[in-house]
Amino acid sequence: MSQNPPSLRPDLAPRALIQDAPRDQNRAGQPTIGMVSLGCPKALVDSERILTRLRAEGYAISPDYAGADAVIVNTCGFLDSAKAESLEAIGEALRENGRVIVTGCLGAEPEYITGAHPKVMAVTGPHQYEQVLDAVHGAVPPSPDPFIDLLPATGVRLTPRHFSYLKISEGCNHHCKFCIIPDMRGRLVSRPAHAVIREAEKLVEAGVRELLVISQDTSAYGVDLKHAEAKGHRAHITDLARDLGALGAWVRLHYVYPYPHVRDLIPLMAEGLVLPYLDIPFQHAHPDTLKRMARPAAAAKTLDEIARWRADCPEIVLRSTFIVGYPGETEAEFQTLLDWMDEAQLDRVGCFQYEDVAGARSNALPDHVAPEVKQERWERFMEKAQAISEAKLAAKLGSVQEVIVDSVDDEGATCRTKADAPEIDGNLFIDEGFEGLRPGDIVKVEVEEASDYDLWGRLLEK
Ligand code: SF4
Repeated sequence: MSQNPPSLRPDLAPRALIQDAPRDQNRAGQPTIGMVSLGCPKALVDSERILTRLRAEGYAISPDYAGADAVIVNTCGFLDSAKAESLEAIGEALRENGRVIVTGCLGAEPEYITGAHPKVMAVTGPHQYEQVLDAVHGAVPPSPDPFIDLLPATGVRLTPRHFSYLKISEGCNHHCKFCIIPDMRGRLVSRPAHAVIREAEKLVEAGVRELLVISQDTSAYGVDLKHAEAKGHRAHITDLARDLGALGAWVRLHYVYPYPHVRDLIPLMAEGLVLPYLDIPFQHAHPDTLKRMARPAAAAKTLDEIARWRADCPEIVLRSTFIVGYPGETEAEFQTLLDWMDEAQLDRVGCFQYEDVAGARSNALPDHVAPEVKQERWERFMEKAQAISEAKLAAKLGSVQEVIVDSVDDEGATCRTKADAPEIDGNLFIDEGFEGLRPGDIVKVEVEEASDYDLWGRLLEK
């Protein structure tokens, strides 16, 4: 899957954006830690938690290698290409700083890391927050100061201040054959709904305007808790989405599977409580391919479901990812996927070429597809996806959209419509009259221009 451009790689996380005081503003003698965060948005949330704890204990965060007493590298081990990238990042941190603690998904294979980099100080696995902190304490002892080290109410976030990821559960009960996440992260463990809501409330109070709900399987939220209610909040995705929607921020749902109960989320979108946006990793459309993948909800009649969602909420935007060239994928199966795309008319689509991942059960499947066939199918798929995206965006010309401002510079404002998740979807650009805008503003624009993936618009009102 390494051939796909980064913009279509949901496993490629945004690089850590460490917004903190530079070292010379830290107090003298204060221990300082650097963080390199690789991997998916879920890993980014882990990095944020680790930094939150360290800040609470009195550590300062360094934005560069030179200013850090030690560096934590939060790795990704989802694909072989991501593993290679993680090893490279560890090597760079060792060269530039020399005192390196490794954590994250790749930490589940410590000998893989120490084999390549014997000088790392410690290796811990995913979600082993306590072990990471122990390793940091060992490498750079804390020097607590209760007046300076009070934890900010919102913790430390690596994402820009106006949007924040909100992790609602960890792990996964499925066994998709191409995926090793359940082996690395374990079975589904949901956070209590009241804890999620409390975190979301604090974020919104601190100025967050958009909450990005993430987990391995958002639709399964609360299954392990038997959807029990605690402290006035029920652990079910429909209830959680409604409760989050009441906070007044944009709420965007990622990694939802097309189970029948997802229908209950659509009225919340139609009401405006939750953004009319569903990120559903369909991965394929042919039932036999889905069966060979052992996908959840493989038997769902997805086209019927999509039609139902659109009937209940016509403005809903659907994003998905697909794998082409999965072992045993015939030309007829691939053609079914293309035909399905014609019908489904998804708004936003990413596509991977299948790639073996060490430890995945799909490696042992017969009839692997030749690399040139995978490439050719990927190109045909992307051509179709691009044409659909282009037509969908062209249809927005002249419409009025509410957009959130992500950044402003001398040239203009970079914004997103409700149809665009940060990092993975497109943008709407405002080139004139943008001077008074600030990141996090939500404004109305009239769409004046469209390309394959992006829009340009005229500011109407703040
Ligand atoms: S649903 Fe499948 S692809 Fe997603 S994390 Fe679980 S096993 Fe992996």
